[in-house]
Amino acid sequence: MKIGCPTEIKPQEFRVGVTPSAAQEAIAHGHTVLIQKGAGIGAGFDDAAYTAAGAQIIDTAEEVFATADMIVKVKEPQAIERKMLREGQLLFTYLHLAPDPEQTRDLLASGCTAIAYETVTDRNGGLPLLAPMSEVAGKLAPQMGAWTLQKANGGRGVLMGGVPGVGPAQVVVIGGGVVGTHAARVAAGMGADVTVLDRSLPRMRYLDDVFGSTFRTRYASQANIAEMITTADMVVGAVLIPGAAAPKLVSRADLATMKPGSALVDVAIDQGGCFETSKATTHENPIYEVDGIMHYCVANMPGAVARTSTIALGNATMPFMLALADKGWQKACAEDPHLLAGLNVHAGKLTYDAVGAALGLDV
Ligand code: NAD
Repeated sequence: MKIGCPTEIKPQEFRVGVTPSAAQEAIAHGHTVLIQKGAGIGAGFDDAAYTAAGAQIIDTAEEVFATADMIVKVKEPQAIERKMLREGQLLFTYLHLAPDPEQTRDLLASGCTAIAYETVTDRNGGLPLLAPMSEVAGKLAPQMGAWTLQKANGGRGVLMGGVPGVGPAQVVVIGGGVVGTHAARVAAGMGADVTVLDRSLPRMRYLDDVFGSTFRTRYASQANIAEMITTADMVVGAVLIPGAAAPKLVSRADLATMKPGSALVDVAIDQGGCFETSKATTHENPIYEVDGIMHYCVANMPGAVARTSTIALGNATMPFMLALADKGWQKACAEDPHLLAGLNVHAGKLTYDAVGAALGLDV
């Protein structure tokens, strides 16, 4: 199969869909890998790294789309890319179609077969192609929160780990899933005093078993959240109710109970945010202040560490990419219900119930 990887064109997207190491494995499986010139630069992979792996460097996106049997990307295809997709072509990337009727219409019109990273499942009921980005965002959250807490950035001027004779920062993480667990681990590793609040008792039992005294857990009742934020230097928002907007767990009125200059890091901003005062920000202008409380609400946090994110995503997507290339999508999906769960569009039809329901389209 000819596997094509164009340069990402969405603003501020530095990741790349195929790493040199994934290209090398695909080539070892007998496939041809076509990489658009410069596609890996943002993630620190130059064209020579791909050539050394055996891939062919292609000058333009048009040529990649025209030649490849399967397009492997990171972000959903942009309007100009959607025009280049053709009938029978396989697209493997993040799509997030539910809130995006324009993209859905174009993919249906193209006649392509589109498998979305975000709906591929695993045997534990997880989302293996979303998890790596949650791991990255979770580990970044305390790092960015610590920066936000610095005086020059409008923060309280508190050091995460304290120093001998001065206590550490108080960090509260709301939501103890993939993002929350990684955030709590890093914050604790920086020396902060960390509490994770969740509504799932099994999840808190798991965290308690695995992490013991590294951080505490508390049930995420309204009363406990209201109490914990009054002493927090940093609050990380990491909740998810699958398929729904994030619940607002800290209101604007609550900000008055917090310590001036404390930091809210709302990782759940891509689902609307879990603090009432959150609004999405960018890496260029990541923080803002409301009622004396600093907010960090970057919607694509993994983009800040494009190299780590690219490699992490590549590690997760590669086995699926190889299965699709080796067997063809029909056989690969027939043999693996978890990969089949990723199928969103085929031959002009939607094939994913939740997307159809969200857009009012037949499936
Ligand atoms: P997850 O499903 O692994 O974890 C979510 C946790 O939230 C679960 O443990 C659940 O029990 C808990 N929860 C649900 N409702 C709650 C409530 N009312 N109070 C307390 N806890 C509650 O999800 P995840 O992978 O950790 O993702 C968390 C959020 O981070 C999602 O919105 C995801 O889209 C987002 N995210 C954002 C970025 C970014 O760049 N901003 C990157 C990756 C993920």
